[in-house]
Amino acid sequence: MPEPWLFDHPLAPHTRYRIGGAAARFRELETEREAVACVQELDGRPYKPIGGGANLLVADRGVDFPVLALTSEFRAVEVEEDAIVAGAGTALPALVQTARREARCDFHHLEAVPGTVGGALRMNAGTRDWGVWDVVEWADALFPGLPAVTRLTAAEAQPGYRDTGVPEGTLFLRARLRAARGDAQAVERAHRSYREEKVRNQPYDRASCGSVWKNPPGQSVWRLIDAIGMRGTRRGGAQISELHANFILNMGGATAGDVIELMRETRRRVLERFGIGLVPEVRLWGCDPELLRELGAEDQIP
Ligand SMILES: Cc1cc2nc3c(=O)[nH]c(=O)nc-3n(C[C@H](O)[C@H](O)[C@H](O)COP(=O)(O)OP(=O)(O)OC[C@H]3O[C@@H](n4cnc5c(N)ncnc54)[C@H](O)[C@@H]3O)c2cc1C
Repeated sequence: MPEPWLFDHPLAPHTRYRIGGAAARFRELETEREAVACVQELDGRPYKPIGGGANLLVADRGVDFPVLALTSEFRAVEVEEDAIVAGAGTALPALVQTARREARCDFHHLEAVPGTVGGALRMNAGTRDWGVWDVVEWADALFPGLPAVTRLTAAEAQPGYRDTGVPEGTLFLRARLRAARGDAQAVERAHRSYREEKVRNQPYDRASCGSVWKNPPGQSVWRLIDAIGMRGTRRGGAQISELHANFILNMGGATAGDVIELMRETRRRVLERFGIGLVPEVRLWGCDPELLRELGAEDQIP
C-alpha cells in the first residue's frame, strides 16, 4: 500500500490567500471508508479538515497537526425532487450552479462564495440573516475519536453566525439540502442580482479570505474600520481593501505575518476608540494561544 500521508506538505496552494507554511502531515480522502479508517487511525488526536481554504489564514511557520482534504467521492452532487445531496468536497460554485440551473430556491445566498460544501457547513456560510444550515435537512459527519458516521440535523449542529456548535475537527462528509423548485425566471433573477451586488461591493481581483472579522451585534465592521481610518492601510504585501474595509488582500507576496499585523492594529484601535472587541471570522491556523487571545479568537484556542 502506498503511504497515504504527505509530509511537510505546503498549505499555501490549498488556500485562497496563497499564504502560509506547511502541514506536518496532509492526506486526501477519496471515500467514506478511507475517511472512517483515517479518523480511526488518528485515534482522537487533533486534526483539521481543509476545504477550499477560502476562510483560512495559515501561519507562516505552518501547522503541526494533520490536515485532511476530501476529494473524489466527496465531490458528487445528486439532484432529487425536493433536495440536493452534495458531498462535502463539492465546490460551492458547482452546488450553486446546479441549483440555479434546476431553478431551486434559496441558493442565491451562496452566489460568489468560494470554498466547499464542507467549509460552508462548518462556517454556516451565507449572509448576515441566512446561513446554509437554514436549508440543511441533515449532514453526515465524523467526530474526532469516533470512527462511525453520525447524521446530524440542524438542531444538533447548533449553527450560529459564521460557526456551528460541533467539536473542532468534526469532518463533514455530505449533506442533504432542501431545494424546493421555484419559478425559473425568479430564481435566475435572484442569482443574478445577488451576484452583481456582491461582486460590485467586495474585492474579487485579489486573493483574500473573505470577511476578516464578524460583524459585532448591531454594527457593520467596515464602518468601524473606516472610522479609525484604516481603509487602504498596507503592511508588507497585505492591504486593507479600498473597496471593502473588512477584507485584507494579498497584494502579492504577503505573509501571514503581514495580515496578522493589520488584524492586530485594527483590533487594538477599534477597541481603543469604540470599546468593541472584534472577533475574527477567518480561521487562524498555527497561531499560539497568546496571539489568538490578542486577536479576539479565544474561541479558536485548541
Ligand atoms: C471573496 C470571498 C467572498 C466570500 N464571501 C462569503 C460570504 O458571502 N459568506 C460567507 O459565509 N463566507 C464568505 N466567504 C468565506 C468562505 O467562502 C466561506 O466561509 C466558505 O464556506 C469556506 O469554505 P472552505 O471550504 O473554503 O473552508 P476552509 O477555508 O477550507 O475552512 C474553513 C473552516 O471550515 C473547516 N472545514 C473545511 N472543510 C470541512 C469539512 N469537510 N468538514 C468540517 N469542517 C471543514 C475548516 O477546518 C475550517 O475550520 C468569502 C470568501 C472569499 C475569499
